[in-house]
Amino acid sequence: MVLDFLRELEARTRPVHPESRAAMQARWDALPEHVKTPNQLLGRSAVGCEGTHGVFPKCNLTCSPCYHSAEANQVRVDGQHTLREVARQMEYLRQVRGPRAHAQLIGGEVSLLKPDDHAAAIEVMRANGREPMSMTHGDFDYAYLLAVVLAPDGVPRFDRVSFAAHFDSLMRGRRGAVRPRSEAELEPFRQKFAGMFEDLRRDHGVSSYLAHNMTVTPSNLGEVAEVTRSVLAMPYNMLSFQPAAFMGDERRWKEDFDDVSIDDVWERVEEGAGQKLPWQGTQFGDPRCNRYTIGVSASGTFAAVIDPADSADLAARDRLLNHHGGMYFGGQARWVLAARILRAVLRYPLDVFVLAGLGRRMISRTGGVRALWRAWRSKSLGVRTFVVHNFMDSDVVAPAWALMEQGKVSDDPPVREAQERLGACMYTMSHPQTGQLVPACTQHSVLDPAENRELRTLLPLRVKNG
Ligand code: SF4
Repeated sequence: MVLDFLRELEARTRPVHPESRAAMQARWDALPEHVKTPNQLLGRSAVGCEGTHGVFPKCNLTCSPCYHSAEANQVRVDGQHTLREVARQMEYLRQVRGPRAHAQLIGGEVSLLKPDDHAAAIEVMRANGREPMSMTHGDFDYAYLLAVVLAPDGVPRFDRVSFAAHFDSLMRGRRGAVRPRSEAELEPFRQKFAGMFEDLRRDHGVSSYLAHNMTVTPSNLGEVAEVTRSVLAMPYNMLSFQPAAFMGDERRWKEDFDDVSIDDVWERVEEGAGQKLPWQGTQFGDPRCNRYTIGVSASGTFAAVIDPADSADLAARDRLLNHHGGMYFGGQARWVLAARILRAVLRYPLDVFVLAGLGRRMISRTGGVRALWRAWRSKSLGVRTFVVHNFMDSDVVAPAWALMEQGKVSDDPPVREAQERLGACMYTMSHPQTGQLVPACTQHSVLDPAENRELRTLLPLRVKNG
């Protein structure tokens, strides 16, 4: 028994969990060769993001575009169904992708769930090692947030929550901004949403991680810089932009979305940030799908953790990824985390200096220790992440996926490109009943319509009595 206990303790406090290591190796092995670059994080640091699907396929706003299929809104939101499906999907992800990943609670508007069901879904995700992020249009009140976060006796159910709120002028039906004519019109709503979480921390000690999402089309591309500027001054941790794609409900395809590229959006985000945002130091999946950078922002100056122009940063990245890739810091008892860090340090003591050097160079790029101190005093110091995620059009995803299922490679360049990108996908949804893990592009372009038709039968809007 003592031996069993010690064996269990050794596995539990190993810096990189053995199942994480195996899942990452499998992900790395499956990646297409063109993305196995030194900056690649998939399969070396994480397995990528995950999302739920078919769990509450309904929304009370209308957006153009909308990635839900035309049938999505004809389904009832049903807490029991949501919890059953979230549990099945998360258990499967836990089984095949290891003990830790970030997962989006998505597949409709999350605030249409009853607060207790929403809270229970978060708990189910956490129980399966997932760090959940609730995806919302942000049009709900503080009372709803409190009812999700606090148990009926008023005690917080969570010490930290994570929400991503979508705000853009392509959305219709928001209370107080039914048909916004500009992004600027939504500024008070963005502010109010973030403010609720500041209140939550002040009133109940519950902290939060907030993302701001915006869909970009030709009609609001020119406002991306302004949105970036204004959201950077708000307490959002992540600014995420999605160039629109021809995907989902065809009735909502109003513009030529192809006119907006991932580079166009990134340039406008940089314009709003007032500086270059170097992203080439790290990459999740295919660069045609994702741009990503994380760093420290001090009084408006952003410094990426890895500066791709600094060879010392690149050497540090490679060394730390080789030694510690797959180590995670959340979702575990403090003593377990402390033991893992201690074991990592004992194994690679010189990495402490490598990490310190990385931090020192990053601080110097923000203007030095004094600038950091002033930023902290003026409450303008924080970690920021910038993301652009570039979904693909259904007309290339559908043939690309069909050929991938047959193990074939297309001769048609756009379809072949889609195959390359799907093979390197960093945003996965699970189908426990078939054993499939699919890219979100495949889910929305290929699988959602049939899934929603089935849900219409399973969860009709009108429930027959008797
Ligand atoms: S969901 Fe689509 S766009 Fe996003 S990473 Fe996967 S393949 Fe690329």
